[in-house]
Amino acid sequence: MVSQVAVRSSEVAMSRARLPVQAATRRAVDCDFGSPVIETIRQQGYVLRVGRLTFHLAREFGFCYGVDDALDLAYEARRRFAGRTIYLTGEIIHNPTVNARLAALGIHQLENIADVTPQDVVVIPAFGLPASDLEQLRNVGCTLVDTTCGSVVHVWKRVERYARDGFTTIIHGKHDHEETTATRSQVLAIPGGRYVVVRDLQETEQLASVITGLQPAATLRDFFARAASPGFNPTRDLGKIGLANQTTMLASESLAIAERLRAAMTVRYGEDETPFRFRSFDTICSATQVRQDAVAELLKRPLDLLVVVGGYNSSNTGHLCEMAAAVCPTYHIATPDCIVSAELIRHKPAFQAQEIESSGWLPPGRLNIGLTSGASTPDRALGDTILRLVQAAGECPPQSWTARQVADFDPVPAG
Ligand code: SF4
Repeated sequence: MVSQVAVRSSEVAMSRARLPVQAATRRAVDCDFGSPVIETIRQQGYVLRVGRLTFHLAREFGFCYGVDDALDLAYEARRRFAGRTIYLTGEIIHNPTVNARLAALGIHQLENIADVTPQDVVVIPAFGLPASDLEQLRNVGCTLVDTTCGSVVHVWKRVERYARDGFTTIIHGKHDHEETTATRSQVLAIPGGRYVVVRDLQETEQLASVITGLQPAATLRDFFARAASPGFNPTRDLGKIGLANQTTMLASESLAIAERLRAAMTVRYGEDETPFRFRSFDTICSATQVRQDAVAELLKRPLDLLVVVGGYNSSNTGHLCEMAAAVCPTYHIATPDCIVSAELIRHKPAFQAQEIESSGWLPPGRLNIGLTSGASTPDRALGDTILRLVQAAGECPPQSWTARQVADFDPVPAG
């Protein structure tokens, strides 16, 4: 009999028994990922002046409620099930520092469900898990600690409703992202459930051209083979569609996609029919939304450059970078040590897949520097980034910062 101590998949959400998190566990998470530097800056109005540098922090950044919860539960599992093997079914979140810390605590990445024994503990990440994998784990009889975020479960409920009502789900998301993979599985769990994943407005345009009849579906065979559910028939399956989003997509793009699809359905079926054939619910989570709103506010200031800290495979972090890159020079760094010196930085440009090196990125003179971080980035990483920037610029950390604030910091080489 499987032991489900914190189960949150959509079908069992009602019966979920949450693993209680001890205060000591919460303190351990804070100790590992919190930052006194960031706390200090928060308390003084999100602005910090150090010599020639003025840092402007976004009003909302860093760990979201889903990530906080996932880490609490993973740490609690380690404490409570000491001595037992604990697996994670994938990265708990998209941040290299956090994943390395969990590995150091002995929480191992699960390579193959066949390796799991009934004595083991399996932690399901905040993104959720495909329904078939969850079923396999249940059959093993292991202890499941499910940290799937409530906002992801909200998307699952939405797509289940679409499928039950005979609508094809259009998912605005990244096809192979863990969250979208789990969401696709929820669609297929409903008999007759169908989906198409569109990554962006460009792919939506292709879909819209098939809906309106501007383009024969056969010309997009490759697209549907890659992005649609098995056996998808564009002629049969696009008569009723419902839009949902991966929770971390760019809000403005999701809105534009909804409008484009609504317009296509209106062209195809007319104004009167469209409300019966097209549904759209914004399932971008509130944490993603407020971080994007905060960057939009931050960009109203006269910034010389902006640094975004977070994993390169983090969807929400990437979108913050895309927003900023349209306005000012923007550097998305995975970890603070990407700042090699005032001359050299390693970073991933917006809309590109690979990290590159740029030189001459930190100009001389007074600088206004914007800072933000994704929902999966610990405050400690942002605090260390500030210290690294201060030292790269040849300045000294404020005397008011305690020794503890800079104790773990590895100084950046000069010049
Ligand atoms: S980004 Fe949103 S959906 Fe993802 S874990 Fe955080 S709150 Fe949940």
